[in-house]
Amino acid sequence: MARIVRVARSTSLFGFGSRFYSTSAEVTSGVSHASPFLHGGGARKDAARDRNVQWVFLGCPGVGKGTYASRLSSLLGVPHIATGDLVREELASSGPLSQQLSEIVNQGKLVSDEIIVNLLSKRLEAGEAKGESGFILDGFPRTMRQAEILGDVTDIDLVVNLKLPEEVLVDKCLGRRTCNQCGKGFNIAHINLKGENGKPGISMDPLLPPPQCMSKLITRADDTEEVVKARLRIYNETSQPLEEYYRSKGKLMEFDLPGGIPESWPRLLEALRLDDYEEKQSAVA
Ligand code: AMP
Repeated sequence: MARIVRVARSTSLFGFGSRFYSTSAEVTSGVSHASPFLHGGGARKDAARDRNVQWVFLGCPGVGKGTYASRLSSLLGVPHIATGDLVREELASSGPLSQQLSEIVNQGKLVSDEIIVNLLSKRLEAGEAKGESGFILDGFPRTMRQAEILGDVTDIDLVVNLKLPEEVLVDKCLGRRTCNQCGKGFNIAHINLKGENGKPGISMDPLLPPPQCMSKLITRADDTEEVVKARLRIYNETSQPLEEYYRSKGKLMEFDLPGGIPESWPRLLEALRLDDYEEKQSAVA
């Protein structure tokens, strides 16, 4: 972690080199790629405890990166760092950047690589001071340039690419709500997409808030239909090339979400070979 903080601070955003460190990435065939981090019987439990997890979550807006990254972060005891949250914190702080950022974010556009790398390196620096190690990055990198900066300063073990049919993503974004008191996220959308042309259908029950949160729900300013569509377009143009970039490095694990959290979470743990890790954690809790 110290290295990413130091180098992110000193990395010139213009003309940085493309030095990549070798990794232990293990490539497997099929829909899912095995986690390079967790293979091999009982050793994996120790590995989860002892090894720095340096993971990235990719995926379209609304796919659920935040939900699953945050659950894995609690399970593995590593920080979940969402650059969208860093941007929203900066917006809420009414600091010098906030006016500029709100115009960009409210149009669904990407913040400049320079600003986002600065916000991220400040967050990593604060984490380092608190003794954090490892990370699950959510929403970063989003451009090839960001991926190169990241690759230049640290070694990513695994990139999880979450996928849902595009028809579902807009409804999921429009259904998102956050409780402005406890900070928990919910979703009021009922998703029921019928299968066609050999593609499976998908249904997701709403994730409704408890009564005490009901009157405190807020909607993100950029979760309007027009802005969500703009964000999806930008994802397809600017961020999707990252999938091929990480695939070619043998680091990409594709994961088609089979439904809502009850169906998807166990399957994700299985794909990451963390299923019995979770059981063990619950047993000692
Ligand atoms: P998110 O919560 O990940 O959807 O991010 C919300 C907004 O923050 C995005 O629409 C962008 O405007 C900005 N943002 C977050 N992460 C990045 C990034 N890595 N690069 C550029 N802009 C970002």
